[in-house]
Amino acid sequence: MTSTTPATPPVVLRGVPVVPGVQYAPVIRVSTLPEIQVPAGDTDEADRPAEAGRFAAAVTAVATRLRDRAAHATGAASEVLAATATLAQDRAWLGAADKRIAAGTPAVRAVTEAVDQFVDLFTQLGGLMAERVTDLRDIRDRVIAELSGLPEPGVPLPEVPSILCAEDLAPADTAGLDPQLVVGLATTLGGPTSHTAIIARQLGIPCVVAISGLGAVAAGAMVLLDGTAGTLTADPDASAAADAMAAAQKDALAARRWTGPGATADGHAVAILANVQDGAAARAARDTPAEGVGLFRTELCFLDRDIEPTVEEQAKIYGEVLDAFAGAKVVVVRTLDAGSDKPLKFAGHPDEANPALGVRGIRIAEGNPGLLDRQLESIGAAAETTGNPPWVMAPMIATAAEAKSFAAKARSHGLTPGVMIEVPAAALLADKILEHVDFLSIGTNDLAQYTMAADRMSADLAALTDPWQPAVLVLVEMAARAGAAVGKPVGVCGEAAADPLLAAVLVGLGVTSLSMAPAAASAVGAKLAQVTLEQCRAAAEAVLGTATAAEAREAALARL
Ligand code: PEP
Ligand code: MG
Repeated sequence: MTSTTPATPPVVLRGVPVVPGVQYAPVIRVSTLPEIQVPAGDTDEADRPAEAGRFAAAVTAVATRLRDRAAHATGAASEVLAATATLAQDRAWLGAADKRIAAGTPAVRAVTEAVDQFVDLFTQLGGLMAERVTDLRDIRDRVIAELSGLPEPGVPLPEVPSILCAEDLAPADTAGLDPQLVVGLATTLGGPTSHTAIIARQLGIPCVVAISGLGAVAAGAMVLLDGTAGTLTADPDASAAADAMAAAQKDALAARRWTGPGATADGHAVAILANVQDGAAARAARDTPAEGVGLFRTELCFLDRDIEPTVEEQAKIYGEVLDAFAGAKVVVVRTLDAGSDKPLKFAGHPDEANPALGVRGIRIAEGNPGLLDRQLESIGAAAETTGNPPWVMAPMIATAAEAKSFAAKARSHGLTPGVMIEVPAAALLADKILEHVDFLSIGTNDLAQYTMAADRMSADLAALTDPWQPAVLVLVEMAARAGAAVGKPVGVCGEAAADPLLAAVLVGLGVTSLSMAPAAASAVGAKLAQVTLEQCRAAAEAVLGTATAAEAREAALARL
């Protein structure tokens, strides 16, 4: 391991933060497969059965090792390893390789060609399928190493706590890592839903993905990884790095001690709310300092249903969430956000080329108004039974006319109506929308997707869908200002609210409540308690003057 004193300022590389926390440690890198000389000619006809046998044995060896490791790991790590073992023996790619071997292609080349064929297919399918490309390439390299008598590629066992850097991490690399020895993860590729991110969350170690320029950071170099800011600093000043680590530990301690309610240091109240998907999640959220529910994603209750649940059944499910938060500040129930990445069988989705831009969210109600009416009736019934009337909001509103129609329906069931701001058009005309509804809730996940014209599921576009993108924050400010002008609440319920630094900026932009995964509530609440409203406003003003997500983060950090 080497640590050099930099003659020039340390290089700060930027990526997308996935798991918060700060670590200062040497880099380790995944060992990759060396360049293999692939035999150019065909296998003699007589040798082809033996070549097929060699291939089958190599696949079995790789899958067996993965299964062994799955058996020794726990939780998500075990599942990930078992899934990779299953993919290693997937009939589709094995068949494609076998066919080539039978036609005379040497096994190593047949593996490469067969995997390439499926990589192309998965890449074209996009979204979650595209994220499985890394798994397939990992299997390819393990099988080729086995065929070539080389050591299996993967993560070396570090001698001291280290930060694992890689182009991308295959599940089999990350699963089963020891968080005492691998204390941070940094990758060039990957998105918020990649395996790297899932495993880092499970291990509770800081993680930054989509870092450009990471390839130039050599194994052994000392780096400061900041999973909150989304940066990796190569060869930083050692005392500055120690300060950053100490500050992160202080933040973690403050979060553990914070009990609510949400307010800035000078007493400006900002409700800290939970995002939940069913009664069980709501009951668990009640054990955190969350003061209510800012987003109940009702569609997640019904992803496995072929037919629409009855009004009685729906009312019972919604009632569980209302019961869990009886006496709470507020519970906001979102009507079915079906479509795109969350299709519901009973919603009758048309076949569309671009489902994220298609009939989803409130647009479903156009062709199927009964579905929305019955859901509102169910929510009304749950309100009556529990004595805890919720607010209701519609997803994917694009026009004031949609808001008007939804509000009328909700009011007819005795419910308080609001809408989500997820489409730039809705943010731009928030004042017109507010003529009809009582509150707004900004969904920064979709607002970023539609503002930046970048698929929120795409790992390659993670830097564009970063909620720190100033264009997204300008739209947040417009919606918050429209709410303030008429004295109506404007919350944020997208992932942005879970980032403590960004949460403080959102408050400065005029947002009145923050709703997030319950696990994030303490860290966000503790951060707000440390800053004044004036500081939040100064940070928000500075952020609105920036041109990139990285500049926006830096501007906020300097003021908060
Ligand atoms: C959002 O888009 O930010 C949001 C909260 O809704 P969902 O993530 O469920 O699409
Ligand atoms: Mg959304």
